[in-house]
Amino acid sequence: MDNVKDKPPVLYKNKNECCGCSACYAICPVEAITMEPDEEGFLYPVIDPLKCISCHQCVGVCVFKK
Ligand code: SF4
Ligand code: SF4
Repeated sequence: MDNVKDKPPVLYKNKNECCGCSACYAICPVEAITMEPDEEGFLYPVIDPLKCISCHQCVGVCVFKK
C-alpha cells in the first residue's frame, strides 16, 4: 500500500532563497515548472503538482540548495 506518489519538492520557502534564475524550470523533464511573476514582476518558479514526477532534479540544480 506504499504507492502514494511523492509530493513535489519545495523550491523555496522565502524569496531570499530564490533568485529567479530559472535553472529549475529549464531542467524539469516534464515541464512541471512555470516561472510566474509576483506582485512586483519578479519571476518565481511554481510547480504543477499534477505534472511533477518528484525527480528532484530542480532541487539538485538550484544554487541556493548546495
Ligand atoms: S533554480 Fe533555485 S534560484 Fe533558480 S529559479 Fe529555481 S528555485 Fe529559484
Ligand atoms: S521534481 Fe522533477 S518533475 Fe518535479 S518539478 Fe522538479 S524537476 Fe520537475
